[in-house]
Amino acid sequence: MSQSHAIEVRGLVKKYGNKAAVAGVDLTVEQGEIFALLGPNGAGKTTIVEILEGYRKADSGQVKVLGFDPATKGGAGQRWRNQIGIVFQSTNDSADLSVIETISHFANYYENPRDVQQVIDEVGLREKINAKARELSGGQRRRLDVALGIIGSPQLLFLDEPTTGFDPEARRSFWELIRTLKAEGATILLTTHYLDEAQALADRVGVINEGQIIEIATPDTLGGRNNAPAKVMWLENGSTQEILSKNPTEEVIKLGQRFNGQIPELQVLRPNLEEIYLRMIGEVK
Ligand code: ATP
Repeated sequence: MSQSHAIEVRGLVKKYGNKAAVAGVDLTVEQGEIFALLGPNGAGKTTIVEILEGYRKADSGQVKVLGFDPATKGGAGQRWRNQIGIVFQSTNDSADLSVIETISHFANYYENPRDVQQVIDEVGLREKINAKARELSGGQRRRLDVALGIIGSPQLLFLDEPTTGFDPEARRSFWELIRTLKAEGATILLTTHYLDEAQALADRVGVINEGQIIEIATPDTLGGRNNAPAKVMWLENGSTQEILSKNPTEEVIKLGQRFNGQIPELQVLRPNLEEIYLRMIGEVK
């Protein structure tokens, strides 16, 4: 396996008892890429991510993260760990420390931490800077988790459902933050149940179901989305009309000629990522 990829996984298997939670996964994430793992509850996403982080042990397969096998005896080393940022699915530590104390405390673990005050602004916790972690709302607590994940200027960032509990505005600011980290050169592996989040952020998505990757593609091409027929809708005789077409431009031109100009309430809709994803998951079930 080459070292130029941020993450390389070949034939990964992880069983709990007799059941394979991860059943032979191949996956490559390039340096500087944002990759989103999508899949229903129990698909195996967290198991994969935690193996990559070195927190769970694979039964078989090859794994390289920033050039090292995270399961190396004694760990892949402190230097390796310092290059990795992690936002777990849920954490509840440091509940009695304030926001600034918690973030400053974590900053001390790293060689080259981001600026604590800047991180507090980036995650939108300025107003809660002196609040204790246990006094934060669910969404604010999640923002603190994100702050702890990025404080060490990670080269590789793992985000397991990072925006669960965020209000829409906080999600948009989080997306901006992730784009900033990418622009700074970070590689990001994210799991999410929000398909709009994957669409907004990911260079590529991998759909996983029952421990197996169904497809890896860009958000725009997943499941043949770019070639899927578009729905052309308009209002005629008091009701909404619709047709599915592989060539919606042609249909719109025809409609324009028929209406001799303005087409009432014209809409052209391509299937969004969520529709494609649900179709893919539905088909394999
Ligand atoms: P979610 O979207 O709900 O977070 P996920 O895709 O992250 O799900 P995993 O947490 O990786 O899924 O779980 C995959 C499967 O492995 C599930 O069937 C789960 O019940 C099982 N599993 C996970 N952790 C353990 C464990 N420690 N012991 C036994 N079974 C486990």
